[in-house]
Amino acid sequence: MSKKSVHIIGGGVIGLCAAWYLNESGAEVTVIDKGDLKDGASHGNAGMVVPSHVIPLSSPGMISQGIKWMFDSKSPFYVKPRIDLSLLQWTYKFYKSCNEAHVRRAMPALFRLNEWSKQLYNDFVLRPEFEFDFVQNGLLMLYKTVHQEKEERELAEKAGEIGLEAQVMDATGIKKLEPGIQLDVLGGVYFPGDANLHPNKFMEQLVRALEEKGVRFMTNTEVVDFRTHSGKVKELLFKEGNRIKVDNLLIAGGSWSSRLLKKLGVKIHLQEGKGYSATIKNADIKPNIPSILTEGKVAVSPMGKDLRIGGTLELGGMSTNINKNRLQGIFDNLPKYYPDLKLNLNDINKVWYGYRPCTPDGMPYIDKVKSVENLFVATGHAMMGMSMGPATGKLISEMIIDSKQSMDTTLFGVDRF
Ligand SMILES: Cc1cc2nc3c(=O)[nH]c(=O)nc-3n(C[C@H](O)[C@H](O)[C@H](O)COP(=O)(O)OP(=O)(O)OC[C@H]3O[C@@H](n4cnc5c(N)ncnc54)[C@H](O)[C@@H]3O)c2cc1C
Repeated sequence: MSKKSVHIIGGGVIGLCAAWYLNESGAEVTVIDKGDLKDGASHGNAGMVVPSHVIPLSSPGMISQGIKWMFDSKSPFYVKPRIDLSLLQWTYKFYKSCNEAHVRRAMPALFRLNEWSKQLYNDFVLRPEFEFDFVQNGLLMLYKTVHQEKEERELAEKAGEIGLEAQVMDATGIKKLEPGIQLDVLGGVYFPGDANLHPNKFMEQLVRALEEKGVRFMTNTEVVDFRTHSGKVKELLFKEGNRIKVDNLLIAGGSWSSRLLKKLGVKIHLQEGKGYSATIKNADIKPNIPSILTEGKVAVSPMGKDLRIGGTLELGGMSTNINKNRLQGIFDNLPKYYPDLKLNLNDINKVWYGYRPCTPDGMPYIDKVKSVENLFVATGHAMMGMSMGPATGKLISEMIIDSKQSMDTTLFGVDRF
């Protein structure tokens, strides 16, 4: 029997993990990317692997919180006001998803995807080709105010209901966990089951390992259109004017996926959530345990010798502007929790930004498209793409290979809205 041939558009963490498991299943895989696979959302992110993050972004209270943030130039969330039908539709669907019933449905699925991914990362670690600073030190959700403490306690209780271990701690408990750095907090919730990694290292090693396994890469190659026939994608058309034939196509194009799918008559709701990060190489002072500074929604992530700080979610289209106010907002938060960590915009030689592919209901799309016979989609992981990458890759490879699926995918359907 001839090998199944699969072309993947997108060499981010989702596309590469799919390539890994498809290759393992015996498929002939080609990854196509408009970039060089050295930058983008899957590289500069905070590297947190978070089974604890079971509450989707669209949850009760998010609309009023979001509106408050809109009026603060240093806040972690911003929507650029503009007349854009796709943004209006997205916002309406987000609003419809902000309810308790949706949260209850989403929690077990998000937990399963994140937890499964963590196990799959552990499998990567066991292979000699991989060493990407993967550690399971847990995650601290730190807070300074009584108001935030109440919110985090409620989230910890919810997490407990689905069997997740969450320890609510006062400042003394936190300091015992993290004795190597000064802390100024009211308390925090500790999720011992979370992990983190160095995304740049993982991505680089994954590309190399895939190349060694015979996966073909077409980099700096942008897909601009498709040729379809009899309900199937037949050809990919490139910006340079050339084209290639395809048997099976997976679109894992991150925040660009909706534009690609639109050309194939498939509508998905997706907005690019721009975020920033800054990395201190060989940081002298850094915490041992990754944390989220919950009032400011800032991620603090030790990665091997480095320390990465990340945050903000701007729904402002694909602008390349660096919003210095919002960046300063991230840096201002740091010393409030870790008094020894003082960062200034001028100290950072390169500010990185990337686009999180955000769906209105906070659930990814992992599905076979019904209207186009040989088309599959894996995107929309928003702030958890790194965390859910391996499980997503495995799940979509199962769909493409036609083997039994390891988990229920009803909530990840392309047609769910
Ligand atoms: C500041 C920040 C911090 C984050 N922290 C975390 C974290 O701690 N944990 C976590 O789990 N997630 C985190 N994320 C989210 C995570 O980075 C994303 O969810 C994830 O990288 C998305 O991966 P992807 O493969 O879907 O998309 P991408 O990495 O964006 O990959 C898509 C690829 O498709 C290619 N492409 C698009 N269109 C075309 C085309 N027409 N032709 C050819 N190629 C194309 C692009 O060049 C790109 O390389 C963070 C994100 C940000 C911005």
